[in-house]
Amino acid sequence: MNNNQNQNLTEKTEKNINWEEIQTELKEKFGREIYESWLKKIEFVDEFRNYILISVSTRFIRDWITSRYLDEILKIVKNYKKELVRIEFSISNKKKDFKTDENNNFNIEKSNYKDQNISFIEDSYLNYNRLDPNKNFENFVVGESNKLALEASKKVSNDIAYYNPLYIYSGVGMGKTHLVNAIGLKLKQTKKVMFISAERFMYQFVKSIKSNEMVKFKDYFRNTDVLIIDDVQFMNGKEALQEEFFHTFTSLKESMSQIVITADRPPNKLVRIQERIKSRFSGGLVVDIQNADDNLRYEIINSKCEKLKHLNSSYLEIPKEIKLFISKEIKTNIREIVGALNRIISFSRIYNKVPNLIESRLILKDLLQLPENNVTIELIQTEVCKFFKISKNEMLSSRRSRYLVRPRQAAIYLTKALTSKSLPEIGRSFSNRDHTTVIHSVKTIEKIRKNDEEFNSNLETLKNKIILNKNNEI
Ligand code: ADP
Ligand code: MG
Repeated sequence: MNNNQNQNLTEKTEKNINWEEIQTELKEKFGREIYESWLKKIEFVDEFRNYILISVSTRFIRDWITSRYLDEILKIVKNYKKELVRIEFSISNKKKDFKTDENNNFNIEKSNYKDQNISFIEDSYLNYNRLDPNKNFENFVVGESNKLALEASKKVSNDIAYYNPLYIYSGVGMGKTHLVNAIGLKLKQTKKVMFISAERFMYQFVKSIKSNEMVKFKDYFRNTDVLIIDDVQFMNGKEALQEEFFHTFTSLKESMSQIVITADRPPNKLVRIQERIKSRFSGGLVVDIQNADDNLRYEIINSKCEKLKHLNSSYLEIPKEIKLFISKEIKTNIREIVGALNRIISFSRIYNKVPNLIESRLILKDLLQLPENNVTIELIQTEVCKFFKISKNEMLSSRRSRYLVRPRQAAIYLTKALTSKSLPEIGRSFSNRDHTTVIHSVKTIEKIRKNDEEFNSNLETLKNKIILNKNNEI
């Protein structure tokens, strides 16, 4: 923001926080990748005299944002209220209700709504018609769950109106938009293509009525070779729009133009959509995309990594272990998989190192379906004793034999790394040792880890074991 604008804004001290606007600014300021990975899910809680309260789902995300983006965020927020001096966080610890997306269609509508890309410029029809060059057939990974939808999409791309309409449905984040975007890209080479979400269609419709431009609207949508309407469930209850749409549909079909529809459910399950429209939708090919299996999820991760590797020479190879971890633990939908991978990559870029399993768990905590990682000191002590084959009494004793000191220090180190206990608390749990002993242990182990490859890898194994052990227990 330049000085001029700054000056203007300081005069409007009364202006309250508009979080939606701020988010748009954040997206512009930090770019799409950082925004999507870290900032999009910030929730605005409240505004006070000289600070605002925002909420994120994990401590890790809070720390990440604080150390990298908070100064800039504060600058942006201050433009809305210059008295602000700080931003405070609360941790919502919100666990996602993973059943919601799959079993409850009404919630799908809501979450889908949030994901709509609303960055289009609003004045021209053409601006609604943006196809994303990155969502093409070449990078759509095929598996059992999406094979039919992909085949049908390719078929209409080569043989226009072979299936008419082509109707693709699935839950949120499964690849519908990607597929129909790919159809659009392919056909655009030779045909006139119109690609629009049902919400935008509605918006444009209302706007045309208000500005007396219905003739233009009709012309525009009826003079296309290919009409792709994404998320058609959003037309529910919009009677006037449906009326218009029905006639557009009929006219396009008569002129052998291709119609492609996506929705979150099959035609007969659509709510508050005219029967005659539902019946037209069923008149072509109806095909669904099912939940991706482990294999497809893994392949998608792999293919995204391969692409990055080719595009970017500084790309750090993500080990198979981490790819498997993401593909096994994030089962909701592919959008979340892509989001998770982006976070891991964003971490790797900043630290110039790929996160290990434990770090990945932390980074992705809010997306994982794993139970909360409540590793206890008890568990750490037990596992460390087992590993080094000593007894718990020996570990907690004051004896300073080398074969006891190392395991003790390792246990202290792991407690610091895996729990949120304070140094004095940790000291107390190790037979009332002083907090300086705790610090010394942590430092010693850090040093050994750097110099002793074998010890380091033993410690990693131990760490993973503790975490997995915890998860199996629950
Ligand atoms: P939907 O429209 O069903 O909600 P999207 O098409 O927006 O889902 O897909 C969500 C994300 O997952 C997008 O980034 C998309 O590119 C990606 N994606 C989905 N399916 C695949 C696939 N089979 N191969 C590669 N990427 C995919
Ligand atoms: Mg979509």
